[in-house]
Amino acid sequence: MTDMQPDLRELYQEVIFDHNRHPRNFHDMPDASHSAQGHNPLCGDELTVYLQVRDGVVADASFVGQGCAISTASASLMTEAVKGRPVAEVESLFRDFHAMLTEAQPKGRDFGKLEVLSGVREFPARVKCATLAWHTLHNALGGVADTAKTE
Ligand code: ZN
Repeated sequence: MTDMQPDLRELYQEVIFDHNRHPRNFHDMPDASHSAQGHNPLCGDELTVYLQVRDGVVADASFVGQGCAISTASASLMTEAVKGRPVAEVESLFRDFHAMLTEAQPKGRDFGKLEVLSGVREFPARVKCATLAWHTLHNALGGVADTAKTE
């Protein structure tokens, strides 16, 4: 993304700022069918992801916690992206999103709004902030009770 257009970069940053200031689906979920806690010790980001899974579909998703702008915006965008999707699709989106941020040649998938986080690839220390919510989601779906660690 080193050749990213400056105006595109600005637009992406605006979306991230907006999701940090006004996180979507930012509330706990007493009747959640799945949940997990995540912690990124490198930055201090902490969050809990809640899911309501019905008939193999993520019917609802939310999160609470506190962290840097990237981790909060990523969690907010994630809850929007996974709502209404089958669990298998959510898991494949998790893998592809992770690849987009960590691999030199990411897959040619349409990430929709999640694309705004692609610039994080240039800042390896922040990749863990952007993927924390996704690792936590993955653990929630796997029923892992432990706290997700990015390390
Ligand atoms: Zn962070």
